[in-house]
Amino acid sequence: MNKNDVIAEAREKGVKFIRLQFTDLLGVMKNVAITIDQLEKALDNELMFDGSSIYGFTRIEESDMYLRPDPNTFVVFPWRPREGGVARLMCDIYNPDGTPFDGCPRVILKRTLAKAAEMGYTMQVGPELEFFLFRLDEDGVPTLTTHDNAGYFDLSPVDLGEQARREIVLTLEQMGFEIEASHHEVAPGQHEIDFKYSDALDTADKIVTFKFVVRTIAQRHGLHATFMPKPVFGINGSGMHTNQSLFKDDANAFYDTADPMQLSKEAYYYIGGLLKHARAIAAVTNPTVNSYKRLVPGYEAPVYMAWSGRNRSPLIRIPAKRGASTRVELRNPDPSCNPYLALAACLTAGLDGIANKIDPPPACDRNIYHMTESELSELGIGSLPGSLQEAYAELAKNEVIKGALGTHIYEKLAEAKAKEYDSYRVRVHQWEIDQYLTMF
Ligand code: ADP
Ligand code: MG
Ligand code: MG
Ligand code: MG
Ligand code: MG
Repeated sequence: MNKNDVIAEAREKGVKFIRLQFTDLLGVMKNVAITIDQLEKALDNELMFDGSSIYGFTRIEESDMYLRPDPNTFVVFPWRPREGGVARLMCDIYNPDGTPFDGCPRVILKRTLAKAAEMGYTMQVGPELEFFLFRLDEDGVPTLTTHDNAGYFDLSPVDLGEQARREIVLTLEQMGFEIEASHHEVAPGQHEIDFKYSDALDTADKIVTFKFVVRTIAQRHGLHATFMPKPVFGINGSGMHTNQSLFKDDANAFYDTADPMQLSKEAYYYIGGLLKHARAIAAVTNPTVNSYKRLVPGYEAPVYMAWSGRNRSPLIRIPAKRGASTRVELRNPDPSCNPYLALAACLTAGLDGIANKIDPPPACDRNIYHMTESELSELGIGSLPGSLQEAYAELAKNEVIKGALGTHIYEKLAEAKAKEYDSYRVRVHQWEIDQYLTMF
């Protein structure tokens, strides 16, 4: 798609409004709406917005930022009327002097992808996003009550959640997603929808679009969709398993028939790099206080830093498929992450593994949750950070992953996340009342 294709398609499809979209540092989608009359100007990169109103973007005195729409991301919202339709374009943020803005997450991912390209690689990513659908109360406020009591394989014909999910899938397909699977998850009210892998930038754009579509369609069914990692104690949380591979000259660079596991040297080093930096990456892939309530033993979420070709208990699994589907599945990311930053961090770790020939430890094919502390330490299997604070302490020491984010984003995030953690730390939680109020 180029500028003229976008304008022609917008006119043909009766589009009246275009939302120029980008994410802030936390991965929250922001919009600037324009009319079709301003589309050409926007595509000529002449549209300015006030960046000082977006957290972590700019200081007041340099608040005029430019939006550069990516024509490849043009899509019409299928749930809007044909007359006076609405479309969107994803944008990069640029400085007034025409240089890319260091605080734009999409710019950061593109920089990392350019480094991979220098080494001859493209990054391919397929995410598995999980989410909950909750009921609204009479005032329209989200509750923690689910519409169903279905388990993994149960189906009930009147299930509101199933109906909503079906419409979500149809809508995503109309927007160009290739849906590979959609199913009810283990927990009541929990769902997963998987779409086909694509290059990392396209996938990151799709992840933010996905979250926005899921929330919009759920709302139209009177439900609240949440990507909060662990909304309910005692049942599974929501993850975003991140399947990743590198391609070189259109072939999967992780696949090598000569190896006993049919994995290439690059694949092993990539795993080595991910494991080496996993504790620092967690600050980006698991960026909320709540993320660490999911990363506990017993709920299908990883805790221990190991890899395996067989079982699903370690941090990294190598799914059985080979050929073009040869991939590394990183299991700790959750859908509260900013996908641009999360993919930039993972790719940087993997490339560091390749550049520095970091061998991974031997594969661990036993169920890690059945191992004793001494067995774990004998095998050198460490664990992910136990809290957001611990993850940030780890990131602060890691120049490689900090380098992927750049100084601007790292400093803003560290400041925001320290505040977030402190705000949580100083509050008295229900657990403390239950535990101590009558005891002391
Ligand atoms: P699981 O077995 O963990 O439930 P799924 O089948 O739900 O896995 O999801 C697998 C994901 O991996 C899909 O998004 C798929 O498109 C993606 N995938 C397949 N091949 C590759 C590849 N070469 N690189 C990255 N992702 C891939
Ligand atoms: Mg899956
Ligand atoms: Mg599957
Ligand atoms: Mg799942
Ligand atoms: Mg998976």
